[in-house]
Amino acid sequence: MCGIIGYIGTKEASPILLSGLKRMEYRGYDSYGFCFLNDGKASLFKRVGKIDNTEKEFLGKDFVGQIGIGHSRWATTGLVTQENAHPHCDCKKEIFVVHNGIVENYKELKAKLIKEGHIFESETDTEVIAHLIEKYYVNNLEGAVGKALRDIRGTYGLAVISTKDPEKIVAARMSSPLIIGVGVDEFLVASDPSAIITRTRQIINLDDGEIAILKKDGFCILKEEKEAQKNIETIDWDIEQAEKGGYEHFMLKEIMEEPSVIEDAMRGRLLEDEGLVKLGGLESVQDQLRKIDNITLIGCGTAHYAAKIGEYMLEEYANIPTLTDIGSEFRYRKPIVNKSTAAIFVSQSGETADTLAALREMKAKGVLTLGVTNVVGSSQSRETDAGVYTRSGPEIAVASTKAFLGQLTILSLITIYLGRQRDMSIVTGKRIISELMKIPELAREILKQKNEIKKIAEKYKNCRDFWFIGRKYNYPIALEGALKLKEVSYVHAEGLAGGELKHGPLALIDENCPTIAICPTDSVYEKMISNIEEIKARKGKIIAIATVGNEEIEKIADDVIYIPKTLEMLTPILSVIPLHLFAYYFADSLDRDIDKPKNLAKSVTVE
Ligand code: GLU
Repeated sequence: MCGIIGYIGTKEASPILLSGLKRMEYRGYDSYGFCFLNDGKASLFKRVGKIDNTEKEFLGKDFVGQIGIGHSRWATTGLVTQENAHPHCDCKKEIFVVHNGIVENYKELKAKLIKEGHIFESETDTEVIAHLIEKYYVNNLEGAVGKALRDIRGTYGLAVISTKDPEKIVAARMSSPLIIGVGVDEFLVASDPSAIITRTRQIINLDDGEIAILKKDGFCILKEEKEAQKNIETIDWDIEQAEKGGYEHFMLKEIMEEPSVIEDAMRGRLLEDEGLVKLGGLESVQDQLRKIDNITLIGCGTAHYAAKIGEYMLEEYANIPTLTDIGSEFRYRKPIVNKSTAAIFVSQSGETADTLAALREMKAKGVLTLGVTNVVGSSQSRETDAGVYTRSGPEIAVASTKAFLGQLTILSLITIYLGRQRDMSIVTGKRIISELMKIPELAREILKQKNEIKKIAEKYKNCRDFWFIGRKYNYPIALEGALKLKEVSYVHAEGLAGGELKHGPLALIDENCPTIAICPTDSVYEKMISNIEEIKARKGKIIAIATVGNEEIEKIADDVIYIPKTLEMLTPILSVIPLHLFAYYFADSLDRDIDKPKNLAKSVTVE
């Protein structure tokens, strides 16, 4: 998820790797490390924290060599510690691996390798890769990497070096970006073009299942053990564009990552045949969870809306009475909890001050506390009794988009987990899981409509008030759609439960105030149509988010954005995507500072 860089050539690798990693700093990371090969010896350097703090310790010391790999880590498996920082190595410290991604089946592999006598030094999933390569090593590194990868399920961008085969870097990719830089007498590998753009603009995009072998005097790319013919592309992006993966803003890049965020949140956690989910982070409290009979969900802003959807899911499918509150409200009211309450805290950063205060309040009352957060080792993850990481990767735009999708996915997994501990049948468990597995592809279909959504957003660019309405699962999506629009465009927008219109807000509807109506074909569809008609009767414009195949809606709405059909409980995961795109393109048409909206901060660590 974070950064990989590797260098082989005729220059000293350390300054090149260091500056490459620094150019990927914008993505955020928690620890970093390097390994160099020189005269058949390896030197390893790992630290927690920012590169700046230890730069002097590193440059000009023993870390010499014209071959090296570097990594900045965004922890997904194992805490943020020096031992868990990459590169990871085998038992004999001869093979060194840097990895982006998640090894789904690392627990089984690790147990097997330990039985075979391998000794592990870290808690990471990545370390199994180094030991597998050790196990399979016969006479060259690429052969061993190829065999090791056959045992692995999950995602990876990898760079590997070894003192046993010291004249090469072996790199491989599966669903985690990796490029090869082709320079003059040198080759590089990186997860992000910004890391190598100052050395070369000639790149090769590695595809899934390919293994690259880089040597000082040439390279070769293998697919299924045969040489693959690849085109060298010239990138003309400047550094800023390269950081954003060629997109104009981080917000758009992060929206485009939403399908893979959903995939990563589910990775290795679905037991399809049994209709169960496996959440390692809840194992330590699984017996306590069987006994709870009410849940309080807490979050702020976007995380609060995710929590609210979690409430609907948990009540409908896990049969547990659930309440949702905003961190800042909860901490000052008098919550009634008991020994059978579990409190779930939702925060992207895990540092949201109001959510943490609510967590401490709940802990003081002896309530079982669980966390849903993106940042491994954050205050929230340390202070809760147990929890589940969303694994959404670093989110840079201040306005949260992809992290929300990660939160919704995890809340749906927690719903299956708690539901199956109670009276949810295997059939229902399997049904939700099979629908969940289709969601990433359906999300990709929505993203393909981005140009049409852009046109709709631009059509309304002169409006200064928007309503967003939805019901049941899509009521919080109306709140999220309005919040996103406000945050990035500075235009007034309000989200509302469809049924509330007639209790006041209808007074404001006129031809200048459009309403975005989230009305998938679900159990409240007819009710939504009544609300839409109330608006039309007052000359209000309607932009409908409807289910594919619903042609009737085109007769009432002014514009329609279609989303694919899914289980009602999962519709918010899809319906929010067009709203994120709408907010983005609307703000862009007004030329706003989208990634850093005025007056806002990414992680709200003040009360
Ligand atoms: N899953 C690996 C870890 O937690 C890789 C994380 C990353 O991509 O930075 O160490």
